[in-house]
Amino acid sequence: MATIKLEVVSPDQVVYANDIAMLIVRSTAGELGILPRHAPLVTGLIPHAMRIKLNGGAEEQLLAVSGGFMEVTPEKITVLASAAEGPDNIDVNRAQKAYQRAKERIAAFHQGAPVKDKDFDVKRAEFALQRAKARLVAAKAHFDE
Ligand code: ATP
Repeated sequence: MATIKLEVVSPDQVVYANDIAMLIVRSTAGELGILPRHAPLVTGLIPHAMRIKLNGGAEEQLLAVSGGFMEVTPEKITVLASAAEGPDNIDVNRAQKAYQRAKERIAAFHQGAPVKDKDFDVKRAEFALQRAKARLVAAKAHFDE
């Protein structure tokens, strides 16, 4: 069965390394499926739950990535992520709080509430929401869209 190496690296550790059947990621250019012998590629990643297919595609693992870059060669996929966590390392309670906090900040901004925090940046809140959502999806935890 054809496989391709996947290595996911965060600033402090190798988070994941394995021979896999396929990787499905959300890149800055849209969703991409990477199979063995994929053409060389470099792209940015947005925060999401990557889907890692194993055993010829019969098994799927999820991994939350907080944005970064992906380099693909025909033999290897390297993901350089600002942060990445597998389901066992995700603090669901923390992610739910981060999700709620970001959602409330974005809603208040769109309702024209006075901005208390002079450093408030709606884009930053939107990215925080995406990171929290990626963690909740990867942990298969509940959240209200
Ligand atoms: P928070 O607002 O809860 O700090 P964040 O999205 O701002 O979340 P990041 O800046 O993406 O956090 O990550 C900072 C560090 O904390 C990284 O090492 C990341 O792996 C870790 N981290 C963040 N949230 C979680 C979580 N829910 N579970 C486990 N680790 C987390």
